[in-house]
Amino acid sequence: MDKSGFLDKAREGAELIKMHIELGHTIRIISHRDADGITAGAILAKAVAREGGNFHLSIVKQLSEDLIKELADEKQKIYVFSDLGSGSIKLIEKYLSDASVVIADHHPPEDGEIKNDNHILVNPTQFGADSVRDLSGSGVAYFVAKEINEKNKDLSYLALVGAVGDMQEIDGQFHGMNLDIIEDAKELDLIEIRKEIRLYGRETRKLYQMLAYATNPELPEITGDERKAIEFLRAKGFDPDMYYWQLREEEKKRFNDLVVIHLIKHGVGKEVIDRIIGDVVLIKLYKEGDPRHEAREFATLLNATGRLNAGTLGVAICLGDEDAFRAALKLVDEYKREQIEARKYLIQNWNSTVIEKENVYVFYAGKNIKDTLVGIAANMAISSRLANPEKPVIVLADSEEDDSLIKGSARTTERALAKGYHLGEALRKVAEIIGGEGGGHAIAAGIRFPKDKLEEFAELINKALEEQTNGN
Ligand code: C5P
Ligand code: C5P
Ligand code: C5P
Ligand code: C5P
Ligand code: ZN
Repeated sequence: MDKSGFLDKAREGAELIKMHIELGHTIRIISHRDADGITAGAILAKAVAREGGNFHLSIVKQLSEDLIKELADEKQKIYVFSDLGSGSIKLIEKYLSDASVVIADHHPPEDGEIKNDNHILVNPTQFGADSVRDLSGSGVAYFVAKEINEKNKDLSYLALVGAVGDMQEIDGQFHGMNLDIIEDAKELDLIEIRKEIRLYGRETRKLYQMLAYATNPELPEITGDERKAIEFLRAKGFDPDMYYWQLREEEKKRFNDLVVIHLIKHGVGKEVIDRIIGDVVLIKLYKEGDPRHEAREFATLLNATGRLNAGTLGVAICLGDEDAFRAALKLVDEYKREQIEARKYLIQNWNSTVIEKENVYVFYAGKNIKDTLVGIAANMAISSRLANPEKPVIVLADSEEDDSLIKGSARTTERALAKGYHLGEALRKVAEIIGGEGGGHAIAAGIRFPKDKLEEFAELINKALEEQTNGN
């Protein structure tokens, strides 16, 4: 990718923000409510505060026309969007034309050029980056912050927490400009990257829980069965009640080997096995056993706050607030429990409910899976092998805010993308037809649309994906 072109844009964005700080204007920050959006918001807020500026930060689920209108009514002088905005350029141009705007985002932008000289799009995909591997929303925010002031390099670890929350290292290693952030973080001795097991719970789950609750990948015959996990560990001489972080180096290695051998024995695919041992980011500011010590657990803590519309609690955690951290700990347990319930529902109802088309699986869960968990559920359908990994999965649920709407998440694999699919473009197109909002990355995208269009939806999305494989 053209890094220097991207950094020039980041600098333009930074200059615009600094100018407004000098003028004494409030910097209005709007960020996405998942881990990379929350860390992006925290990075930008901190950067502004350090320059002596004021900010007003909101963490939102998505950008809608109504929200952009509300923001316009505030009559701020400058708006900074992070981890969102690229899909709403036309609306931003329409309603915020009198203000300065910086969009610091990594989603593939919708067509529609920015014509306003005071509107700057800082987006690595315009410089050849892959939106789900090379840089997350928090990474874009980080480079803007670093252009505001070199001092903000000490926020690099937060950008990495966001990257991990976005699964940028899904294949077991970091890519693209994420590597530059790692370099900055290492230079300041903020992090360590270790090759370790990439199962959730290094810090806070006992070994048997780490195995029994593993969903990415699933461990055949162990996932979902605590008793089996305990037996498995005892048989190999491990204390099931220990934590991974407590193991000595050689024990970690033996544990890793055991899991790998188990997967091989059960015929799990090579690409899944290849990525189970890989880059794990450890944050030295926190102690072993603290969920903030390992980036995935940190990110999950933030996702748990965002899901409950408590995203600013997540921001506070990023800014080091210990009370916020303790409050969020309670949310994570509940969040994890709900994920396990969602998986159960999916497995029990898959065959009877799924609509399987040539190019897609569509699974409508009604109110049985929360609309905030449909993305995780779609990934679970793939990792639990309910779905053929070469065919995209869309899980739909009733919107929690508006019962006349359906929220859907589409997820797929690299292997499926090789056929030409782009889920974000397909959902955007279908949303335009049935009335709704859709968009996102090639491999992971979302949509909201009226419930009475449910039947049409499956037909239309199948067709949109079909056309992509024909190169239309
Ligand atoms: O809005 P944003 O870019 O932050 O969200 C990206 C989403 O895509 C996350 O929910 C992440 O878990 C998901 N993802 C995925 N598979 C990938 C990469 C990202 O499900 N390979
Ligand atoms: O998908 P994976 O098992 O790597 O994710 C680990 C945990 O990270 C998930 O169980 C979930 O709690 C969290 N996660 C999330 N939002 C996502 C992806 C993962 O909260 N989009
Ligand atoms: O300073 P202000 O009220 O504009 O902050 C907006 C949000 O940023 C607050 O609601 C708060 O959640 C978060 N924040 C924080 N910790 C700080 C500063 C701001 O959590 N030290
Ligand atoms: O909502 P969900 O987690 O499924 O979104 C997956 C990805 O698609 C995220 O990166 C999200 O920001 C993006 N998305 C989008 N436009 C939408 C809905 C989702 O860019 N209308
Ligand atoms: Zn993102």
